Amino acid sequence: MRKFVIGFLVVLLLLPIFEIESEATGSFNDVSTNHRAYKEINYLAVGNIVSGTLNGYFHPGKVVTRGEAAAMVGRALSLNGRKRPTQFSDVGELHFASGYIQSAVEAGVLSGYKDGSFKPGKTVDRGEMAVMISKAFDYEFGGTLSGAAHALISRGISQGKADGTFGADESIIRADFAVFLARAINYKLRIDPKISYPATRTVKSSSIDIHTGPSNLYSKVGTLQSGTQLSAAYAVGPWVYIRSGSLEGFVHSVYLNAPFSSKKVLNQQMIVIDPGHGGTDPGAVGYGLKEKDVVLDTSLKIKHYLSKTPFQYKLTRETDTFITLENRVAFAKRANANVFVSIHANAYNGTANGTETYYYGYNSSSADSQLLASKIQGRLITAWQLNDRGSKHGNFHVLRENMMPAVLVELGFIDNKTDNAKLASDAWRREAAKAVYWGILDYYKEKGFYVTHLYHL
Ligand SMILES: [Zn+2]
Repeated sequence: MRKFVIGFLVVLLLLPIFEIESEATGSFNDVSTNHRAYKEINYLAVGNIVSGTLNGYFHPGKVVTRGEAAAMVGRALSLNGRKRPTQFSDVGELHFASGYIQSAVEAGVLSGYKDGSFKPGKTVDRGEMAVMISKAFDYEFGGTLSGAAHALISRGISQGKADGTFGADESIIRADFAVFLARAINYKLRIDPKISYPATRTVKSSSIDIHTGPSNLYSKVGTLQSGTQLSAAYAVGPWVYIRSGSLEGFVHSVYLNAPFSSKKVLNQQMIVIDPGHGGTDPGAVGYGLKEKDVVLDTSLKIKHYLSKTPFQYKLTRETDTFITLENRVAFAKRANANVFVSIHANAYNGTANGTETYYYGYNSSSADSQLLASKIQGRLITAWQLNDRGSKHGNFHVLRENMMPAVLVELGFIDNKTDNAKLASDAWRREAAKAVYWGILDYYKEKGFYVTHLYHL
């Protein structure tokens, strides 16, 4: 019995090395040129989107795990795959796909389970695959399995089964996953390939290369000079499939005059506003004014502005209640927040004064957090004209522990006479709320989101 238990434990410990998507790429011993998925598997292998074992096996007939799927889709979309801690109880930093899993979840391509797990070793079925690809490539699918199946079939990425069904609950094997992924990436691999080019762009850098796939690993088919106009079909992560004259292929969107991704719409963005303190915790106090009241009222005013826009939004509290820092972070995670803004007021010695905005400088969202902080700070300074204490790194729980871009705004010093007068004023609080809203909007604008004058409240 003990021997059996030990044997079982050893198998459990060894399981991760059976994950295939962890090793080198190249041509595979078990995918010959006459394999039905040879073309698609090798197309993906060129870009390092799929890989096999170190000794050169792809295992085309093996089922796909959620971890492997995250890695393949993540590489296709150029997501950050650096191994790192994740939000899931069963995906440690050392898991081969930890980075891709976390990135794919942050990108809204995959999600975990309600119990906080991701189940990276669980087999993917055809239905889940269809949803995953629909989300990864921004297909409208109505959030249903049948919608996702239709999205793939209508694009020539998948055919239904011979019996007229999609086989949504059947496990998918690596060869088929590769076929679907390759077709989603490169329309020329699709059944009856045809696409439209709904957008036009201009080359903004001195010259850009066109590749046969969405990475520099793919061969170059041509170069476009600065100012060249091109037609754009669809995005694969930051890459865009384009046509210009007789040339077509993938270019990186960073070299175009405007970003390209249909995912960049505000209505998919969830903003969480976090009024600091509350209930038994008054926060800072000055001239009879409590921070918890000032920041709640300001946050409710931000909510009012957000309610007039396509943004989704939630507040961690809308009444005078106490919430722990941990629960504020948990709230934002549950809400799938894309942006987290915590509202506070400062206090020091009565002399210190001014507005400052903090971000955490050492996590995967730091660059975006910094950008968001600088945009909000800029708007607040313009609106309130208090001393500009800048946007800067701060090691606050709600900034450090949140995965999404997160900032903490200190509107002003509640114990400073000048600042306090503005914090105490309903009209000035409305100006502050508007400034925070405008800062969020500026951030999304800079991130390439579609922002019209209608949102310029
Ligand atoms: Zn505070």
